[in-house]
Amino acid sequence: MILPALAEAESPFWRPIKYSLFPPLGLATLAAYLASDDVIDLQDQHVEELNLNDSPDLVIIQVYITNAYRAYAIADHYRKKGSYVILGGLHVTSLPEEAAVHADSIFLGPGEETFPRFLKDLKSGKPLKRYSSSVRTLDKIPLIRRDLIKRNLYLVPNSIVVTRGCPHHCNFCYKDAFFEGGKTFYTQLVDDALAEIDRLPGRHLYFLDDHLLGNVKFASELFEGMKGMNRVFQSAATVDSILRGDLIDKAAKAGLRSLFVGFETFSPENLRQGNKKQNLQRDYSLAVNRLHDLGIMINGSFVFGLDDDD
Ligand code: SF4
Repeated sequence: MILPALAEAESPFWRPIKYSLFPPLGLATLAAYLASDDVIDLQDQHVEELNLNDSPDLVIIQVYITNAYRAYAIADHYRKKGSYVILGGLHVTSLPEEAAVHADSIFLGPGEETFPRFLKDLKSGKPLKRYSSSVRTLDKIPLIRRDLIKRNLYLVPNSIVVTRGCPHHCNFCYKDAFFEGGKTFYTQLVDDALAEIDRLPGRHLYFLDDHLLGNVKFASELFEGMKGMNRVFQSAATVDSILRGDLIDKAAKAGLRSLFVGFETFSPENLRQGNKKQNLQRDYSLAVNRLHDLGIMINGSFVFGLDDDD
């Protein structure tokens, strides 16, 4: 299993810290579907030199737009050696025809349903060229193979994802394109999420969910369950979810100390054009003050160069 990096990740002229933040949770999630006696080598070029001298039966490569050039070269290399190569991820979902040239099978959208289906097909000798995800659920997914992650190489080894997607539809976001063809927002069972948190050592957690507060019932129960776990965590949420009800208070009590917030722009016209309806007519200063009163740091996201910027 390989996560290639863009050239900057290896260059001394760029900040290496930026590229060694999070382990490849997506690949470790897929690894959980492989048999317990399969020999798995999970390599992440962001933090280690790739070893491409092996000859595995199956090669799984995650492709982003920034690593696509390298991902395709690695895919071609292994196909020449006779390995079965599969490609998936955001870039493959965006440009399947381009990716298909370099793969035996490609995967569009999330892989929780399609990857185990592919493994069955591969076993029976009839794998498809293309797998498109339509069934979306995180119920009963196997435990993520965190044992494959070289924790010491990452700044934030305790990253975790307990939902997929987001309930909103901002038109500059990856989300609707990646989740096309099925549900675009769904969550783990609360008990499964709490059990996954429990498995992580130390105190600090980093939720990589697009919008941890996106499902009020799920988030309330999650935060309730986290009370007393003595964790502190970072997450992401929208301006409206910070202002609405008392979910943000519950999050703070559960240990939320830092929040990524998509403010994007102060221009209502830009928000309208970006379909960021959830930010329209929301008082940003109120949201900021509410977070600061709760002792939560803000990691604000802004977009420059939108059509209404002068
Ligand atoms: S709120 Fe954030 S994650 Fe959700 S669609 Fe908008 S930009 Fe994407």
